[in-house]
Amino acid sequence: MKFCVLGSGSRGNATYFESGETSILIDAGMSGIELQRRLATIGVELSEIDAILVTHEHNDHVHGVGVLSRRASISVHANPATFSAASKTVRKLFSYNEFETGVSFQIRNLEIHPFAISHDAHDPVGFRISDGRVSFGYCTDTGKVSQLIRHRLASCQALVLESNHDIEMLQNGAYPQYLKQRIRSSQGHLDNEVAASFLKDLLHEKLEHVVLAHLSEENNDPEIAYHAAMAALEKSPDCKELNIRISVANQYCVGELICLTNR
Ligand SMILES: [Zn+2]
Ligand SMILES: [Zn+2]
Repeated sequence: MKFCVLGSGSRGNATYFESGETSILIDAGMSGIELQRRLATIGVELSEIDAILVTHEHNDHVHGVGVLSRRASISVHANPATFSAASKTVRKLFSYNEFETGVSFQIRNLEIHPFAISHDAHDPVGFRISDGRVSFGYCTDTGKVSQLIRHRLASCQALVLESNHDIEMLQNGAYPQYLKQRIRSSQGHLDNEVAASFLKDLLHEKLEHVVLAHLSEENNDPEIAYHAAMAALEKSPDCKELNIRISVANQYCVGELICLTNR
């Protein structure tokens, strides 16, 4: 199993995921050309993508979905509320495959479980993807961590987790009050401290890699997010037995192609 965050933040999100013969994208929130360019940097052609999974209808997650689907005959998987809310942006698709939030479905060798998150969209989801040996968890754009989210992300070997803002930077920043409130609300985005304490709950000896994602350019600093997560890791009583890498996704640069070893 391999994955790569192609870009993450409020200007566009997309993650490449591959296991065996199956290659998918989670979200496609950049232009088609830009996504094709970013895939090429990790040696992947658009024609190799089997499916796009959509988390929710916000433009930073769906901007390129329609064009990629039409250009390379890629099937798109989303729940009906997201599909309908995104229809003006994505327009015609090569093929639309409906899933129900909370109900697992299969794409070739992959079992995909979409679970509810808490965000100001119609039916936003995170994903847990398993290939029978390894599991991968994806959760950004949530204003709080529910028991359900905790449960779905437990025991994954790799995680992409939101670490959106630093509370102080947001409070003291230039955003208008209503926007600050929206970001901080239970349907907004996770701050670094909440994300770090969530990560602490998710630690286990088979967890290999965590990517902190959807960082705000205005209200966060990659160093601060990274240090909050590392501090949580170091506070764990089994810290010495853990061998976990943490990296921070970037809006403008393609992340590392991460291969899981299933140690
Ligand atoms: Zn977003
Ligand atoms: Zn969103």
